[in-house]
This record gives sequence, C-alpha cells and structure tokens, in this order.
Amino acid sequence: MNTQHYYEDLKALARQVRAEHGLSSPRVLPTDLMRIYEKHGIVLDQWPYRFRNLRGAFINDHLGTTIMVAKGLPLDPMVFTMAHELKHFFRDRDLGISYCDQSNLNKSLEIGAEIFAAELLFPDRDLSVT
Ligand SMILES: [Zn+2]
Repeated sequence: MNTQHYYEDLKALARQVRAEHGLSSPRVLPTDLMRIYEKHGIVLDQWPYRFRNLRGAFINDHLGTTIMVAKGLPLDPMVFTMAHELKHFFRDRDLGISYCDQSNLNKSLEIGAEIFAAELLFPDRDLSVT
C-alpha cells in the first residue's frame, strides 16, 4: 500500500468508526471518545503535563491497552489527541508503544494518526454547506 492509499484507508476507517459509534454531531466531545474507549476496553490515563512536545502515548501489552494523554490540555487538543491515539489502537497495536510528540510527525504512522483524527472529528461531509 502506498502512502496515499494508506491515508485514504485511514479516512475510511475514521468514517466507519463514526458510523459504528453514532458520532453524528458536528462536535465530538471527550465523553464520545470515552464511550469508544470503553467499548474497546481501552484505559485512559492522564499524566502530569511536563513533557512539552509529548501530547499522548499509546501502550499495548499483556495487561491490555492504555492511552495516555497529557493532563491539563485544553479541550480541543485533548479531543484531537484522544482521536489520534485511537488510530494507533486500530492500526498499530502490534508495535506495542507509540510516543506521540511533535518531533515524530515526519513518520507516516504519526501523520496517518493526524489524518485519522481530523477525519473522525471533522469529516468532509460536515463541512459542506447545504
Ligand atoms: Zn501518535
């Protein structure tokens, strides 16, 4: 799969997740994402915000899946990070752990997670004017 196909596939996945979980409102809230996390048995952990560039991390091991999000993030970055980490759950579980900081953004895995999050939260169709 080339990079373009990979990104398109992630957008399709995001639309599928929206449909499966009834995310139809224009604004997705942390509680919406918590519902998805709970359904998949993902534990959300907040840790003190002291790593400037690190917004979130994804950990999958024999104990299960934990997503860590920096505590004290404003609402929008919080929701975006939770959506970003969800992509790692669906597609990168076998990697075990992903640290998501700004310096990682050149990797297609990370860019893909940003694309997935954007599509999950702001799908194209909601931007169309009727
Ligand atoms: Zn990431």
